[in-house]
Amino acid sequence: MSDLIDEIKQLKQERKAIILAHNYVRPELQDIADFTGDSLELSIKAKNAKAPVIVFCGVRFMAESAKLLSPDSMVLLPNSDAGCPMADMASAEKVADYKATHPETVIVAYVNTTAGVKSHVDICCTSGNAEKIINSIPLDREILFLPDRNLGGNLNRKLKRNMLLWPGFCPTHDRVTPQMIETARKLHPGAKVLVHPECDTEVVALADEALSTGGILKFVRESPEQEFIIGTETGILHRLKSENPDKKFYPLKPEMLCPNMKKITLENVRDCLKNLTEQIELSTEVMHSAVKPIEEMLSRS
Ligand code: SF4
Repeated sequence: MSDLIDEIKQLKQERKAIILAHNYVRPELQDIADFTGDSLELSIKAKNAKAPVIVFCGVRFMAESAKLLSPDSMVLLPNSDAGCPMADMASAEKVADYKATHPETVIVAYVNTTAGVKSHVDICCTSGNAEKIINSIPLDREILFLPDRNLGGNLNRKLKRNMLLWPGFCPTHDRVTPQMIETARKLHPGAKVLVHPECDTEVVALADEALSTGGILKFVRESPEQEFIIGTETGILHRLKSENPDKKFYPLKPEMLCPNMKKITLENVRDCLKNLTEQIELSTEVMHSAVKPIEEMLSRS
């Protein structure tokens, strides 16, 4: 393993590359990354770093967002099969059709969407800034929220809005049930239950907090509590444990894994740096139009 890591470091230097790792990817990738974080946070860090080559350890829509924000950099996705089933539940064609037939509706897209979809929406949001973005839209405007019906439903409930919801969901978070929360509380009484708002509204109602990955990391860092049940992809436990060695963490379910987030390996990173594959390429039209809703979000958050 150390030979492989040395090889990656050498190639990284030769290519003047930076490596980004999402909070959910394999621990060994988080350990070699220049930056770890959520998808948008990483894209913004990459933009500021101005590296000629960006290796994105995550899934395709994240690498696309990095390309949108760093158009002059070469963005590499080390395993071309790493996709996001939820992002793929909204196609650019269907969203374009909706926009054409409902020009008065404000379309809000979670960043977990393809660049093609982003090119047809009005504004993006993350799970961390979604409340602020939705609150910035006048109450009398109709909103379509996509692609995550759970995140949208949780926002509707919390903000007392009535957004129309696209029927997408994250298979990893949608599998969480209220019974799982009850069982975990019995096993670890006194532990705070933190879930991601991509979970169902009934699950969120039973949790102590529903937070983005960045929100979970911050909450744990600042909390005087010592034990936490974590209801999101288990990859985040690596960072939680290394940042808070004296606190205890229990996954809500050990099998809360996103197979796509685990597809990239150290070997893939070595090979992509060696061969400069797979490069993210977007049409000029998509590059031009898909960055606009991200910039609109950044201007309001
Ligand atoms: S955890 Fe869910 S939203 Fe994230 S990449 Fe996997 S399927 Fe997509």
